Amino acid sequence: MAAYGFHGGLQLDKHTRDVIARPIQDAAPSAVLALSLQQHRDLRLHACVRIGDSVHAGQVVARPDLDIGDNRLGAWLHAPCDGEIIGIESRPLIQQPKRSGPHLLLRVRESAPVATRQLDALSTAELLPAMLAQAGLSGLGGANFPSADKLIHRVDTLILNGAECEPWIACDEGLLIESAALVLEGAQVLARACAAQRIELALESHMTRAIDAVQAVLRERIADDAVPVRLHCLPSRYPQGSARQLIEALTGRQVPLGQHSAAVGVVVHNVGTAHATALASRGQALTHRIVTVSGPGVHAPGNYRVALGSSVADVIASAGGYTEQARRLLIGGPLMGVALPHDDFALQKGSNCVLVLDEVRTPQAEVTPACIRCGDCADVCPARLSPHLLWQSAQAQRAERARADGVMACIECGLCDLVCPSQIDLTRQFRDLKHALWQSDHKQQQALAARQRFEQRNLRLHREAEALETKRANAGKEALSASVVAAAIAKAKARRAGTRRDDGGESAS
Ligand code: SF4
Ligand code: SF4
Repeated sequence: MAAYGFHGGLQLDKHTRDVIARPIQDAAPSAVLALSLQQHRDLRLHACVRIGDSVHAGQVVARPDLDIGDNRLGAWLHAPCDGEIIGIESRPLIQQPKRSGPHLLLRVRESAPVATRQLDALSTAELLPAMLAQAGLSGLGGANFPSADKLIHRVDTLILNGAECEPWIACDEGLLIESAALVLEGAQVLARACAAQRIELALESHMTRAIDAVQAVLRERIADDAVPVRLHCLPSRYPQGSARQLIEALTGRQVPLGQHSAAVGVVVHNVGTAHATALASRGQALTHRIVTVSGPGVHAPGNYRVALGSSVADVIASAGGYTEQARRLLIGGPLMGVALPHDDFALQKGSNCVLVLDEVRTPQAEVTPACIRCGDCADVCPARLSPHLLWQSAQAQRAERARADGVMACIECGLCDLVCPSQIDLTRQFRDLKHALWQSDHKQQQALAARQRFEQRNLRLHREAEALETKRANAGKEALSASVVAAAIAKAKARRAGTRRDDGGESAS
């Protein structure tokens, strides 16, 4: 049970039984993998291979593109299969389908083994973050935040997040059923890297098979010197898996807005990330992930192991293809997911679910945006916001007003949409507002950084000019003093010569 709980939230019906009824299956990789060079929102990668290069599975193909002085580590990108780099192309980004970004295109060789190369062994706790960055680790819960950058903070508690709360997603549950030992092994590595003294593993109480698997490992395999692990079986409640809500539910600590959870001594990692960490510690880079493919619109719902860069269309083909009911395609769950206009998108590290819904579950497109001030949205909001007030600010295009009312704390859970009797698409508008505010802040930060660079350059040039001037003046003084000395010597010589002539004249007379 959760010791504390969190505000708002709803219990939603689960639709994961069909998915976890089958073991995780391998999806065939696409013939051409498209690996995005735009990873987390403001982290870009630069390719370290060229068109025409032959690459092998596990080879580094791109590294973080960081400015000098940027202390982040990011996450490297590796080839999931043997093949040939055939281009770099701008393509729509799967998490933001209206935006495009560069993708590295890798044509997979037919005989490509799905294997990876050895990385350096993960040794000391100090080196772990850098090595996990080199292994390409990103948060596999969906946020895709580089895992290594979470580990630079010292904390007392590592929360291992297996509380998948979106009603259709079960990739973490499937992973725990099959690989609980590796997940817990990776959790120990992560805890060591951030000096955590305890691990709190959060699952939902309906995940009975995953709970059994974890308990079996905890009974048998945890070493005496391991960081202690406590298993929490939480009642199903959306959005329990959101980091802030989970921290509050398990520790009672509230993360201040705009701050990292380390500010309250906690770091949260997804169970999939812990699994990938265990593989990385054995020398295997992150090249594949488990994706839940589900919904009434696919023939064979299940969890699939997918090569990063595979297309949504090919993964759906691995799941038996579309049914006649297929109407709406989402990446992620029905509440926090993003609607895709077609299936020609490439799955990346943060892609945890492909969901194909039928018409019945599709929200109505036509809405009447008339708020009746019922307050239902505020009752369920886990971020303790007043969504109706934020919506008014969005309608009036008053982004700063919305910021003052806390829109940046919105976790885009979609609950306000779900309960709104007027069917206002609140979350989309909050997402847009946050993006606009983030862009404006980012531009201001860039302008500030550019101005600081300009001022530093001017200061440097001024100092160099002063130093040159001083050097010239000193050289002039030295030259002057040398000429004064030379003149004085010449004068003295002349005086002595004159004296000798005078002496000579007297003696001759
Ligand atoms: S989408 Fe944002 S505003 Fe709406 S309930 Fe969730 S956190 Fe609150
Ligand atoms: S739930 Fe909808 S109608 Fe009710 S207060 Fe919120 S925005 Fe207005």
